[in-house]
Amino acid sequence: MSAARPERDVVIVGAGVVGAAIARELSRFELRCTIVERAPDVGAGTSKANTALLHTGFDAKPGTIEARLVRRGHELLSAYAHRAGIPLERIGALLVAWNEEQLGAFARIVERARANGYTAIREIGADELYRREPHLGPGAGGALEVPDEGIVCPFTTPLAFATEAVLAGCELRLGEEVTHVERSGDGGTCVHTSKATLTTRFLVNAGGLHSDELDRMLGHDRFTVTPRRGELIVFDKLARPLLDHILLAVPSATTKGVLLAPTVFGNLLLGPTAEDIENKHDTSSTREGLSYLRAQGERILPGLSDHEVTAVYAGLRAATEHADYQITIHAAEGYACVGGIRSTGLSASMAIAEHVRLELADAGLQLAPKPHPPSVRMTNLGEDFPRPYTQPERIAENPDYGRIVCFCERVTRGEITDALSAPIPPVDLDGLRRRTRALMGRCQGFFCGAEVAALLDGRPDAGVSV
Ligand SMILES: Cc1cc2nc3c(=O)[nH]c(=O)nc-3n(C[C@H](O)[C@H](O)[C@H](O)COP(=O)(O)OP(=O)(O)OC[C@H]3O[C@@H](n4cnc5c(N)ncnc54)[C@H](O)[C@@H]3O)c2cc1C
Repeated sequence: MSAARPERDVVIVGAGVVGAAIARELSRFELRCTIVERAPDVGAGTSKANTALLHTGFDAKPGTIEARLVRRGHELLSAYAHRAGIPLERIGALLVAWNEEQLGAFARIVERARANGYTAIREIGADELYRREPHLGPGAGGALEVPDEGIVCPFTTPLAFATEAVLAGCELRLGEEVTHVERSGDGGTCVHTSKATLTTRFLVNAGGLHSDELDRMLGHDRFTVTPRRGELIVFDKLARPLLDHILLAVPSATTKGVLLAPTVFGNLLLGPTAEDIENKHDTSSTREGLSYLRAQGERILPGLSDHEVTAVYAGLRAATEHADYQITIHAAEGYACVGGIRSTGLSASMAIAEHVRLELADAGLQLAPKPHPPSVRMTNLGEDFPRPYTQPERIAENPDYGRIVCFCERVTRGEITDALSAPIPPVDLDGLRRRTRALMGRCQGFFCGAEVAALLDGRPDAGVSV
């Protein structure tokens, strides 16, 4: 093997929200960085199928890396979302008690929140709870209010990170799988992919569900990812007025329970279930999971039974046998393992990236800041913020912002064209959906699917004229 200087300073495996955040963080320095992602797009793994809450970390296990990084991540992503145009609404959460035992758990939960440095949590009685959530089902005895919990766009977040990284010069290799790795004589690593061999000084494993396999390729054997499937139901936008806050359950010894939350797209979300499975690709929804969720949802918010379901989906948490993230930096090996990022990785992503950057610097990575690192402003997908079809000045500038293609979600031809010419364009309909909301509405593309597909294929005049 060649002992020449590695071609790259850092190779990051995985372009989920964690890998993309690390790429963005490192790209602000004079480094030769590459992200290698097996999927054809950024954020197409677990990062696209979660509950999309920006957690405060009030309920994390005190003293863990997760507790620290979720708390810091909340701070960092709150500021970044504002700058980068990522929809984020700090609507607050209410953790509702439905019986005496759950009410009795409040003192322990408040104590844990304080141990995590979160002091804004407070108890409210049943009267105030029903005043604030009048559609809540009968029987609630009170709640803990967590005012800083929020809802965020799970799609725009990894895309903003990756776009900023690419604009700063980070190489993005999509549709390329890391198949094996070996140490090179100079202390670096040879990364063999399905398409090339890359040499690098440092390797960062942000492989999500496959982080354990990558870790073993590097000669370690310290954790196994057991996918924990979470099924979710998205209710129609007409259900949105039923709820103002995120409704959390009082956690039991085994599960955090089912939650109900508004989404930044204007729907209501119910879920997730928690089921350990073997297959790392099995994101199917099940009859049992959905029936369980519906029963829970209609008990918490009886009005839900009058509303249509827009979509169902499932995501897989990268759970391990350990109760914490599996983040370890091996300075001598030039290797950072960032695995087992279970159910809080969206919230913690920027703090994980900051942590990895500091640890890599300690391990010898030279960090010379770029004088003018780029910043991005993403197209807004949030219902609570201005969208092109509501902005006469934008329509006057470009009439395509007034030509609606997807009527359920009010997505215009201008937004689709913008997505197709973005630094990281979509390669399929799912990618276009995550960048524009097209096909995400109650007709699920039945009406606009043909026209959206034609636009993706570069046939702008095909399909329905609007
Ligand atoms: C049901 C559910 C609800 C959740 N709710 C929340 C929430 O409300 N708030 C929150 O903060 N978090 C939540 N999470 C957690 C959050 O979604 C994850 O922690 C986060 O998405 C993990 O990101 P990641 O980048 O580590 O993994 P991923 O998004 O899975 O990315 C890893 C990437 O690595 C790639 N990869 C793996 N192996 C290779 C290889 N050999 N070569 C090339 N590429 C490879 C994969 O293709 C994948 O794209 C939830 C998760 C689930 C499942």
